[in-house]
Amino acid sequence: MSNLLVVNGLTTQFESKNGPLTVVDGVDFTLKKGEVLGLVGESGCGKSVTSLSILQLLDKYGKISSGEVLYENTNLVNKTEKEMKKIRGKEISMIFQDPMNSLNPVLTIGKQIGEVIEKHEKVKGAKLKQKVVDLLNLGGIPRADEIFHEYPHRLSGGMKQRVMIAMAIACNPTMLIADEPTTALDVTIQAQILDLLRSLKDELDMSILLITHDLGVVAEMCDRVVVMYAGQVVETTDTRTLLRNPRHPYTEGLIQATPHQSKGKSRLKSIVGQVPTPDQYSPGCRFADRCPKAMDICQSNVPPLFEIDGQTSCRCWLYEMKEEVI
Ligand code: SF4
Ligand code: MG
Repeated sequence: MSNLLVVNGLTTQFESKNGPLTVVDGVDFTLKKGEVLGLVGESGCGKSVTSLSILQLLDKYGKISSGEVLYENTNLVNKTEKEMKKIRGKEISMIFQDPMNSLNPVLTIGKQIGEVIEKHEKVKGAKLKQKVVDLLNLGGIPRADEIFHEYPHRLSGGMKQRVMIAMAIACNPTMLIADEPTTALDVTIQAQILDLLRSLKDELDMSILLITHDLGVVAEMCDRVVVMYAGQVVETTDTRTLLRNPRHPYTEGLIQATPHQSKGKSRLKSIVGQVPTPDQYSPGCRFADRCPKAMDICQSNVPPLFEIDGQTSCRCWLYEMKEEVI
């Protein structure tokens, strides 16, 4: 599979009264064509800021201070806002974290989806309406003709998320970023939305960057996984290896904190402590104060990413004997 998106050394900072805070710190990963790549970690690890950086949707306090975002070999970091508008929605589309608040409450569903299409295509009237209805159908929304005229508050959470998905695929994007697409939904609806994403990916031949804190979602959906902690990538590998043989102590912690339905009443262990904020980073490993395997070196020296095999790299001193990749 060839590469669709290559993120190289992406570093994003936010202004604060005490100077710039580095929220995304030298992040590297590759999304291949046709793949679902998971971006995983607790909230506050920099996953959402990474995706907003890719699309240049940071607020006025945030900026990419270094690194590249190569989409089809073109660096998006150098693009103007006008150029990015052509890319957003048409090349790379995004489903935001909160379906409840991402829809405009004063516009009908039909109008909102129609507006997205009109940004990129010259289509109007009955043709536009038919396109919207087709998209609602593709999003698995029943009574699409009626829903077209409804306002968002009349829809359930699951239906709103289907509308968000229909809107995201309106211009047939090559790549979809889905930021916690099922987090706000209850379990049965979650499964339906994941099914929908999977079938749309195949039908529309999309690649997906799936942001989640939920390893159950990763197991269901992802080919490969990038685990982030405190703004950095700490482990990259394929999903099977990640779940069976996690290398980074943080990944192990995440797995132990995930319910395994098949194992019945397994005991869940949460990871003690919290993700540090950028002004709290220690001089060594950022996970050191939560890590059950921490050694002396971890307190003072920042671990690089060590390559373990062709597939797996891990930012942890336990793998020091292996070859360094950064
Ligand atoms: Fe734990 Fe040390 Fe590895 Fe950090 S480098 S994850 S503290 S063992
Ligand atoms: Mg987030």
